[in-house]
Amino acid sequence: MDEKVTVDGLTFVPYITRDEIAAQVKRVADELRNDIKGKNPLFLCVLNGAFMFAADLIREVGINDAHINFVKYTSYEGTSSTGKVKEIMGLTEDIEGMDVVIVEDIVDTGLTASMMINDLKKRNPRSIRFVTLLHKPESSKTGFKPDYVAFTIPPKFIIGYGLDLDGKVRNLKDIYVIDEQD
Ligand code: 5GP
Repeated sequence: MDEKVTVDGLTFVPYITRDEIAAQVKRVADELRNDIKGKNPLFLCVLNGAFMFAADLIREVGINDAHINFVKYTSYEGTSSTGKVKEIMGLTEDIEGMDVVIVEDIVDTGLTASMMINDLKKRNPRSIRFVTLLHKPESSKTGFKPDYVAFTIPPKFIIGYGLDLDGKVRNLKDIYVIDEQD
């Protein structure tokens, strides 16, 4: 793991290692597999941030009949939430009667999650489960609680493992947190 990462003049320090990520991905995948036993889920990966987590999680869950699709919303500019959620790429597939598993990178204010779930409920799925890699409960503006959480973290800005700073550093294999000394 690199010591520090500097991007756009901001410094980030190591926070969660790839081994810790893999262990929690396995734990969440085991719980989820157990809960959806006998069902044929539709995984909905929330782009862009969740692509890496979704790839690892879905492989770990290991259900060959599962469908995988993608939706895209945006709310962040730089290192803070704008408070407004925009749908950029919606779902085209019919989800009526399906067991939907939403895979998200971070729940921060909870606005994206709440909006997405309200929207999906109108399409009459049989069930909706919400999995997130990271949850910042102290930032919540909605009281939304994800069903599955790999890591609960304080309200600090993080990058890596799919999470960006203005489109960059999604490639990092570990998770980094903004350096408070900056
Ligand atoms: P919410 O709607 O819950 O406020 O925000 C969810 C979205 O904000 C996440 O999917 C993610 O794209 C972005 N976000 C929230 N916190 C962070 C963070 O610490 N780092 C990064 N890179 N994105 C974040």
